[in-house]
Amino acid sequence: MIVSNAVEKIRLEDVSKSFTARHRTVQALQPTSLQVANREFVAVVGPSGCGKSTILNMIAGLSAPSSGRVLYDGQPVTQVNRRVGYLTQKDTLLPWRSVADNIGIALELACNHVSVSERNDRVARMVDLVGLRGFEHHYPGELSGGMRKRAALARTLIYGPETLLMDEPFGALDAQLKLVMHDELLRLTEHHAMTVVFVTHDLAEAIALADRIVVFGGRPGHIKTVRQVDIPYPRDVFRVRFTSGFSRLYEDLWEELKGEVKEAERV
Ligand code: ADP
Ligand code: MG
Repeated sequence: MIVSNAVEKIRLEDVSKSFTARHRTVQALQPTSLQVANREFVAVVGPSGCGKSTILNMIAGLSAPSSGRVLYDGQPVTQVNRRVGYLTQKDTLLPWRSVADNIGIALELACNHVSVSERNDRVARMVDLVGLRGFEHHYPGELSGGMRKRAALARTLIYGPETLLMDEPFGALDAQLKLVMHDELLRLTEHHAMTVVFVTHDLAEAIALADRIVVFGGRPGHIKTVRQVDIPYPRDVFRVRFTSGFSRLYEDLWEELKGEVKEAERV
């Protein structure tokens, strides 16, 4: 998806992160540098606890680095980054609000700027975009897991973010549904020319979707390896995993990852 002469969108410059709890300081992330180009789809893969969510939080401006800096469009991120949409690990749909009212919430909170009729129009467009027509008036508890993900995605996309941060968004879905969501995600991000940072522990998912894969190791978190995925877009996410390029890359990256996963298990 990345275009040539790529312009940098996100840059982590020697970013580290430590947390202090009960007088003990734990380093979550070693000084780490990474650049993401405009319209690039980068997948971050690594074992649990290696700092993947921490990185997204820093790009979103929800958490400040302990050292180094995060740049977005060349500017340091010093407060909540409103240019990104952030789909966190839990889909936090409000159970007492309908699908439409959940999707429209960001526009409602910005109530001074968006009229009710414009909000309704934009919600309707989002509902169509993510394939939830007919379910607008349902409540989250009445939806399947995939539909809830779609609603959460629509709620994130409604204010037109240019970058999408996704934290293990499809982890809880079954394998078939995951493929359907992959297909839709690629269509959406391509259509909206978005930059994506996609965190997952599923290597196959990362290869199927991304331009580039960043493999993290843990304790403290650090980049182990970065690989380009040389499979052209548009991709057929259903067939891509039967190609030789896919299996070669899977084997290579699994070699990198498996030691880390075993290590992360040894608590
Ligand atoms: P991942 O998303 O890769 O599973 P996280 O970024 O959530 O990892 O966490 C990385 C490390 O930092 C973990 O060891 C975690 O326990 C620790 N950590 C994350 N957030 C906090 C916090 N708010 N306070 C203390 N420790 C934290
Ligand atoms: Mg996480």
